[in-house]
Amino acid sequence: MKKNTFIILAAGLGKRFSNKLPKQYIKIGKFNSIEYILNEVTANKNINSIVIVYNKRYIENLKKLLLNYKKSKIKLVEGGKSRQVSSFKALKAIYKYNPKKIIIHDSCRPYIKNIEINKILLLLNKFDGCAPTIKNVDLVRIKLNNRLYESNSDIFLTQTPQGFKYKKLFFAHKNYKFTDSKDDIELINNDKHKIKFIEGNKKNIKITYKKDINFFDILKNKKIQFGIGYDIHPFNFISKKKLILCGVKINHYSLEGHSDADVGYHAVCDSIFGALGIGDIGMIFKNSNPKWKNANSEIFLKFAKCKIDEFKTSIINIDINFICEKPNISKYSNKMKLNIARVLKIKTSQINIKATTNEKIGFIGQGKGIAAESIISLNYD
Ligand code: ZN
Repeated sequence: MKKNTFIILAAGLGKRFSNKLPKQYIKIGKFNSIEYILNEVTANKNINSIVIVYNKRYIENLKKLLLNYKKSKIKLVEGGKSRQVSSFKALKAIYKYNPKKIIIHDSCRPYIKNIEINKILLLLNKFDGCAPTIKNVDLVRIKLNNRLYESNSDIFLTQTPQGFKYKKLFFAHKNYKFTDSKDDIELINNDKHKIKFIEGNKKNIKITYKKDINFFDILKNKKIQFGIGYDIHPFNFISKKKLILCGVKINHYSLEGHSDADVGYHAVCDSIFGALGIGDIGMIFKNSNPKWKNANSEIFLKFAKCKIDEFKTSIINIDINFICEKPNISKYSNKMKLNIARVLKIKTSQINIKATTNEKIGFIGQGKGIAAESIISLNYD
């Protein structure tokens, strides 16, 4: 059943961190360290189950964050008095499932990548244990009795995730007389076992001090997606309706369209759908549907906002450009920004609205309609 299990050791309190909340629970951008790890590992098809070893003082924090993940895959195990005891408790808890391979990872190393996990899992076909290491390039000095000694041997740093054949590690834990091992590879690092050290990932830092949080924030890959939207509507010179641009009623000829023809909102919606990769406004709100006849386009923008939330993204900025001879857009741009900011729940400083004429050229230049374009950037942090 649970062939490959991923164990997150999250029971530590981090004495060097000087904060009430342990470092693994502190948000770095949108997520905390445990969430960054879960976001990666839950997407790995080679991992069949996950065990989180927790400290009962923070069980509520853990349960709250787990609401966003599939529960069936995650098992919780209460930690012990040392890292080694916690690790063994997790191994004992999954014994009945007869796991084949396990990966053990420190909860305060948020920069874990599935490519590394998969590489370790593959190597476990040949080896009993596998751990990533970083070759030290700085000069190592040791101070003893007020004298400095230089290390002349090869020194390397050991990281997690570390992988093991389950049974090999289980019995190594069982047979080990002490409870103070610094990690799991230490327990099987002897002649009886085949161990493979691989090149680690320098970005996979262990958050130890408060300043490491800023460091991780710089290191982590920020994914940004852009979207473009364009719309154009002709004026209706007969209708008595007023012009509506980004929800602002303007004393001017209205635009012709199936809905309220709010060319500004339509362009913004399209840029959002584009950035999310879900098509365009015409596909979602068909103009053959009588439901949208004369509809208030704020409905479309509200829908776009729901989609942004659904995709767990956030808006970085929006740049909107109107192309028309009349009216003078700058008179209304602040009101437009307030409307967009209200619906999309962002600050007006994230929105830019500008306008240009078409220099009397073509359809727009002859004052027959208005075009709008919008570019948006979304943060998938
Ligand atoms: Zn439109």
